[in-house]
Amino acid sequence: MVQIHSSLLFICKFFQKHNTLSLIHPIYQGMTASKILLLIIDGLGDRPCDCLGGKTPLQAAQIPNLDELAKTGTCGIMDPIAPGIRAGSDTSHLSLLGYPPQQYYTGRGPFEAIGCGIQMESGMIGFRANYATIDEAGNVIDRRAGRISDTTEISAAISDNVDLSKYGVTIQFKRGIGHRAALALRGEGLSAAVSSNDPNTTGLPPKVIYPESEDTPSAKFTAEICNEFCRQTTKILKDHPFNLARKAAGLNPANIVLIRGSGVMGVYEPFEERYELSGSVVATAALIAGIGSSVGLRHVPVRLDTSLAEQVALVRQELATRDFVLFNIKNIDEYGHDGNIMEKKEFLEKIDKELLPLMEIPELMIAVCGDHSTPCTLKEHSADPVPLIIHGDGARIDYVSSYDEISCATGALCRIRGGDLMPILLDLINKTHKYGT
Ligand code: ZN
Ligand code: ZN
Repeated sequence: MVQIHSSLLFICKFFQKHNTLSLIHPIYQGMTASKILLLIIDGLGDRPCDCLGGKTPLQAAQIPNLDELAKTGTCGIMDPIAPGIRAGSDTSHLSLLGYPPQQYYTGRGPFEAIGCGIQMESGMIGFRANYATIDEAGNVIDRRAGRISDTTEISAAISDNVDLSKYGVTIQFKRGIGHRAALALRGEGLSAAVSSNDPNTTGLPPKVIYPESEDTPSAKFTAEICNEFCRQTTKILKDHPFNLARKAAGLNPANIVLIRGSGVMGVYEPFEERYELSGSVVATAALIAGIGSSVGLRHVPVRLDTSLAEQVALVRQELATRDFVLFNIKNIDEYGHDGNIMEKKEFLEKIDKELLPLMEIPELMIAVCGDHSTPCTLKEHSADPVPLIIHGDGARIDYVSSYDEISCATGALCRIRGGDLMPILLDLINKTHKYGT
């Protein structure tokens, strides 16, 4: 029975492979893919959900195009860093790009800073920042400052007016998307070992920043500078005309900046030198754009409100001239964090529809995966491995016929680590060198 079943599957696979009417681009016999698309659906993986009859959102979703890609490609599951490690988006993306986070990761701040357009140089300290609202008593009452959408004016005011010259330090401060922003410090004797002023809740005042993990003179010095930055920004923002106008309109003013995620800018071997491939990153999230830029990928600017169809068009455009594109689709992770099971499932179906133009590109090796699991039941990242498809000429075709966490676990790639992905893809496009004779 098992044998009959396997034979039938093989015959099905044969026809799928040679079916030129297939929606997916047929595999060209004898050709070798020359370009790589690494499609990362952020927070893709999940756990069984009761409301889906014990299925994951990906298992429950109607995703014919991704299923077709799985049918005509090779599948597996992947631990972004290692089994049991709950990856952040930043450490995972580094790992998937072949830069071991254990060696390269220095904190989220520098990536956010680059993603917001700050020119980070080795040794600078970067922070994530966000605007919030404090009341008259000095307590944080809104950690997103009324979901403010445009902070260009006040961000410029901070950048132009904060003066830390008495410490021999200069700052760069840039707005990000919505209430987000980034800060970078440049100067001698700085350390990233400092805490955050974010109380992480409402009803409490911002915290004093102190040296963290190492009580060195440079950490004390940097903590003092950060506290001075916060004092000056609060003063600048308090009666800024922009905030007075917001108050008059009944909106929460953006009258404090919370900073966190400090990290020193590291040194990265450029992607192009490491792999002999030109590359780009298409991502709405500043963090991912920053990671891509750090390793030397060209950042294609994408606004948060750019539709998925437009993002796909940008990816196609980049692939016309570049050898490698990292494309990160963000929304899925947020549904996981919010515990929105049905929204996660429905957005996966939307992604499936919109991806078709990417699947029709010839000579392309596509890898589809998540950067980690964000189970809706957990509302946080988990270490559950993510499903992976590798599709393109030369990639073996296994018996997996649907794209989900469980089916992919039976695929030919078995279970790999994130650090294995680039070597496998490079080999499939004939960019690896023989080890030995
Ligand atoms: Zn992520
Ligand atoms: Zn997340």
